[in-house]
Amino acid sequence: MTDYRRLRVALLGAGAVGSQVASLLLKHGDELADRAGARLELAGIAVRNPDAPRDVELPRELYTTDPEALITSADIVIELMGGIEPARSHILLGLGSGADVVTANKALLATHGPEVFEAADRVGASVYYEAAAAGAIPIIRPLRDSLAGDRVVRIMGIVNGTTNYILDRMDSEGADFADVLADAQRLGYAEADPTADVEGYDAAQKAAILASLAFHTAVPLDAVHREGITTITADMIEEAREAGFVIKLLAVCERLTTEDGESISVRVYPALVPRSHPLASVHGANNAVFVEAEAAGSLMFYGAGAGGMQTASAVLGDVVSAARRHMAGGTGVGESTRANLPIVSIGHVVTRYQITLEVADQPGVLASIAGLLSEGGVSVATLVQTAIPAVEGEQRSTARLIIGTHRAADSALSAAVERLTASDVVEHVVSVLRVEGE
Ligand code: NAP
Repeated sequence: MTDYRRLRVALLGAGAVGSQVASLLLKHGDELADRAGARLELAGIAVRNPDAPRDVELPRELYTTDPEALITSADIVIELMGGIEPARSHILLGLGSGADVVTANKALLATHGPEVFEAADRVGASVYYEAAAAGAIPIIRPLRDSLAGDRVVRIMGIVNGTTNYILDRMDSEGADFADVLADAQRLGYAEADPTADVEGYDAAQKAAILASLAFHTAVPLDAVHREGITTITADMIEEAREAGFVIKLLAVCERLTTEDGESISVRVYPALVPRSHPLASVHGANNAVFVEAEAAGSLMFYGAGAGGMQTASAVLGDVVSAARRHMAGGTGVGESTRANLPIVSIGHVVTRYQITLEVADQPGVLASIAGLLSEGGVSVATLVQTAIPAVEGEQRSTARLIIGTHRAADSALSAAVERLTASDVVEHVVSVLRVEGE
C-alpha cells in the first residue's frame, strides 16, 4: 500500500447526503487515496445530536458537536448541513483557516455566493459545489471547465425532481395537481411543506448558480424571475398534449443579443416544450440540463437530481479534486464573473405563447381578439376554436379559443393579456403559457 500524505477531512452534517459521503469515504479509502494522491482521513463529523438514528451506521467516536475545532484543523471541509447559518460561518471559518471547501448548499451559494468566493480568493483556496445543482449530474464542472473556451447561449434545465414527478404524472394519468401532490408527499417525493419545490424557489436557486457560471456574471437570486406550477391544471396539460407539447418546469438561462449589446435573462416557469425535444422525455423525478453553446452546439446532461447516495457521488468527486489541488499546491482557481453582463427583467424576454380564452361565441369576436393582440405587436400564428355546450337557460353561448402567437416580448404579451381581460368579448383568460425549446 502506497504511503500517501494524509489530508484531514471535516464533514459537517450526517443526514441524507452526509451519512453516505462518510460511508463511502471509509469504504473506498484505498481507492480514493490512489485517485487523489493523498489519504483522505475522515477526522470527524459535526452534527447536532450524535445519538440520533442515522441512515448509515458510522463509528460513534467520529461524531462531534464542536464543529469549530474540527474545521480549524482540517485540510478539506465538506459542508452538508444545508441552510444559511451556521453553514455560512463554518464555510468562512474553513476558508479562513486554509482549507478547501466542498458544499452541496444551493440555498447558501445562491444568496451568499459572492461572499464565499471572495473569501476563498483572498486566501487562494477553492470552493467546489458540483452537488449544488442537479444532484448527481455533472453540470458545474462542464460549465466551469469543459465549456470555459466556448460561449454558452442558452441553458434549459429540469432541475427540480419533485415538480417533474408531479407534472409527469399529471401528463401520463390526466390527474389533477392537488391529487398528485398529495400522493407525492405520501411517497416521499415531496416535502410536507412543498412550497420550495412547487413555487419554483429551489429551481430559482439552481438557475442563479448555473447562470452565474455559464455567463461569467454574478447572478443574485432576486434577479431570477420565478413562477411555480400550482396553477397548472389537468385541462392545461391536455391542451398542451393536443398541440404537441408537454408542460415542464424549466430553469432558463439565456444570453440575449440586441443592438444595445449583450445581456442575460434568468427565469423559472412552467413552459410548453415540444414533445420532440429531448427534455420532453425526462420522466419521473429525474433532472436534465440542456445546454446550447456557440461552438459545441447542443449538449444534454441527464440523471438523478437528488438522493443521498447519488448526491454523495458528486460530493466525493469534488473531494478528490480538492485533494489533488491540495497536493499540487498553488492557489485555487476563483469564480469567473468578469463578464458582468446586465441581467434583464422578464419583460425583455422574447418567446412564443399559447393563450387559452373563453369568449362569447358570436360574429366578429375573432377579429376583435386579433385586433387586441396586434395593438401591442402580438400576432396570431395558430388558432383552435371549440364550442362550449351552452348551459340550460343561458342566452349567451361560449367558445374556447387556443391561440398560438408568433414570437413577442413578454412585456407586449402581458399588456395584450390585460387588454383581453378587460374586453367585453372575453369571458375568461384561462391560461397563458410560454413556449420554449422550439
Ligand atoms: P439533512 O438530511 O437535513 O441533514 C443535515 C445534517 O446536518 C444533519 O446530520 C444535521 O444534524 C446536521 N446539522 C444541521 N444543522 C446543524 C447544526 N446547526 N449544527 C450541527 N449539525 C447540523 O440534509 P441533506 O438532505 O443531507 O442535505 C444536505 C445538503 O445537501 C443541503 O444543502 C441540501 O440542499 C444539499 N442537497 C441534498 C440533496 C438530497 O437529495 N438530499 C441533493 C442535492 C443537494 P442532526 O442529524 O444531528 O440533526
